[in-house]
Amino acid sequence: MSVTIYQQIKEFYDASSGLWEEIWGEHMHHGYYGVYGTERKNRREAQIDLIEELLNWSGVQEAENILDVGCGIGGSSLYLAEKFHAQATGITLSPVQAARATERAKEAGLAARSKFLVANAQAMPFEDNSFDLVWSLESGEHMPDKTRFMQECYRVLKPGGTLIMVTWCHRPIDKKPLTADEQKHLQDIYQVYCLPYVISLPEYEAIARQLPLNNIRSADWSQAVAPFWNVVIDSAFTPQAIIGLLRAGWTTIQGALSLGLMRRGYERGLIRFGLLCGNK
Ligand code: SAH
Repeated sequence: MSVTIYQQIKEFYDASSGLWEEIWGEHMHHGYYGVYGTERKNRREAQIDLIEELLNWSGVQEAENILDVGCGIGGSSLYLAEKFHAQATGITLSPVQAARATERAKEAGLAARSKFLVANAQAMPFEDNSFDLVWSLESGEHMPDKTRFMQECYRVLKPGGTLIMVTWCHRPIDKKPLTADEQKHLQDIYQVYCLPYVISLPEYEAIARQLPLNNIRSADWSQAVAPFWNVVIDSAFTPQAIIGLLRAGWTTIQGALSLGLMRRGYERGLIRFGLLCGNK
């Protein structure tokens, strides 16, 4: 199962990243629209605000050696390298993304301080205790083994270092298990966005406790980010985007046609935007 899902993820991002960058820019993650999701702002500004709000929330004020797990085309990696005058390494399953991130680093004059590799987060090619900040923004949902993924993030973290993980979750299930209809809704999302499955935030916290990560904090920012999907939906059906979609192929088109799945997922409280941070 895993080999197939890795291959699907690779193909999904190889095919769609050029279009995403053309229409939406270098950040392939939600934007932040204020605690209650009521602030109106430009989409890219909202995406950068999400990074800044995450740093604020986690209390990270400096970093020397950053790992961006599931780095896309290096949006966060280069932003953080620049902000902290740090060294940044990004890993992705997509060779197209790694090449584009490397090119973007050169364009930004950050080539000497950054490195992008095609590598699997479930078995990272790094020594133990290598990074003082491990950053994973919207990649955990793609991982077939969530425990193994978090163990790897923990292993490569230096003692005292910080893990910041932000990922798509489903609602907590301690009070009420997922209904058949909710499960069907999730299956549709998994299929379109190449996700093996997602779990709830309390389940991630339980894994974090076993690592054992210290000073664990978690938060649900669904309300703050949910407006993002309206913005994406509005911009996905412009002529420029439609031409790009046709060029990118069927999987990407399917992704665009299914944007409403995520919007409805947030509306019914099924999809949650989960944050977790802690120290080694
Ligand atoms: N964090 C980036 C990109 C998010 S898109 C941003 O915010 O802009 C999800 C990313 O996770 C993609 O780059 C994809 O290649 C990566 N990814 C998914 N599964 C992975 C795995 N097993 N190992 C490494 N990267 C993975």
